[in-house]
Amino acid sequence: MDSNHYDLIVVGAGVLGTFHAYHAAELDKKVLLLEKDAFPVNATVRNFGQIVPSGMANEWFEHGVYSTKLYKKIQSEFDISIRQNGSIYIASDDDEQQLIHELKHRMDERGYEAHLLSKAQCLAKWPALLSSYCKAGLYFPQEVSAEPNTLIYKLLFYATRKFQTLRYQPNTSVWGCEVIKDNVKITTNKGDIYTSDKVIICNGHEFSTLFTSIFRNSGIVVSKLNMMRTIPYPDIDLEGNVLTGLTIRRYESFYDCPSYSKISTPDHLQELKKWGIHILFKKAIDNSIIIGDSHEYAPVDQIEKLGFELNQEINTVMLKEAARIVQIPNLQIASSWAGFYAQHPDKDVVEIDIENKIHIRTAIGGKGMTSSGGYAKKSIQQIFESR
Ligand SMILES: Cc1cc2nc3c(=O)[nH]c(=O)nc-3n(C[C@H](O)[C@H](O)[C@H](O)COP(=O)(O)OP(=O)(O)OC[C@H]3O[C@@H](n4cnc5c(N)ncnc54)[C@H](O)[C@@H]3O)c2cc1C
Repeated sequence: MDSNHYDLIVVGAGVLGTFHAYHAAELDKKVLLLEKDAFPVNATVRNFGQIVPSGMANEWFEHGVYSTKLYKKIQSEFDISIRQNGSIYIASDDDEQQLIHELKHRMDERGYEAHLLSKAQCLAKWPALLSSYCKAGLYFPQEVSAEPNTLIYKLLFYATRKFQTLRYQPNTSVWGCEVIKDNVKITTNKGDIYTSDKVIICNGHEFSTLFTSIFRNSGIVVSKLNMMRTIPYPDIDLEGNVLTGLTIRRYESFYDCPSYSKISTPDHLQELKKWGIHILFKKAIDNSIIIGDSHEYAPVDQIEKLGFELNQEINTVMLKEAARIVQIPNLQIASSWAGFYAQHPDKDVVEIDIENKIHIRTAIGGKGMTSSGGYAKKSIQQIFESR
């Protein structure tokens, strides 16, 4: 067999592409994973690193639970920055408190460990929380977090050493992808040609290189998120994934709670909702605290309109809300950045199959760190079963 021929070529080494490559290699497929940049720098490294199945609905909850187990298994073999320090949803008013009670009931039915915490218990466990904000909490002790700025590099290192059949090649932009007879032909920016039985395209929010007309008509929307990182605060106790009232009002797992459709948005939250803001905190290993996020949207063919600048008004509004939730004396922001991800208004993920050989898998939205490990396993099974 030609040494440039693979069972599978995966385009894009974000978390979604990397887990597709991982699961295919686990089935003993010969896999080539191509990444356009020297190292991935998009959504997969710009996020919080919160692995929160508790926030997901339906099969995405299951994908998240599977991913969590997989992250833990890999961490037991090699340090990929996974820490099991749980997720806490902090309710700030009666409506949010009602929703966490209802989600607890649903999680009990599923057999997924969850604990309702009183205000006093929350304040004892997370002393940085303000008593004036916190009414009660819902805690998921099994959940984990990652360091987004290192996880993918460690995961790629681990996977390429674990699987002899997996080759990772950065600095390689895929410019052409077409079915020729029984194979798919890939051409790169370097003029190299590779062939494979199957290609999976996990291009994140990059829509200007491959299949541009398909993407232009796909209905995909790109979201820009403002993020901030504080200087290190070793003495601030804010461990784990800390999710707050607006997240309870936003995350899909709450949609099926009986009271969800009855709650309204109080006046003081309207300005935050305008920018799609919900406040999350993730304390990193270096003791800095990631704070976010907001959401601005543009259709796939108008991504440029989202701009390159961070709207400072959004950051100010976010920090004002963060100050209502936690007390961080002399808060100093060390850096801020924009993250972008693709999503579809009506689909949980975009799956487009071309001649049963090229499989586009993108627009996983804001749930990719949590659910890619599980979703990619199912996706690989389906793709290789449908020969
Ligand atoms: C600010 C922010 C916060 C978030 N927080 C969380 C969180 O806490 N928990 C959670 O579960 N999810 C979170 N998410 C969502 C999560 O980060 C994404 O769902 C996930 O990273 C998407 O992974 P991906 O592989 O699809 O895309 P990407 O990470 O964008 O990767 C796509 C890769 O494909 C490469 N590529 C594209 N085109 C080509 C080409 N032609 N040739 C070669 N390479 C190509 C790109 O260079 C890129 O590296 C967040 C996202 C953002 C932006």
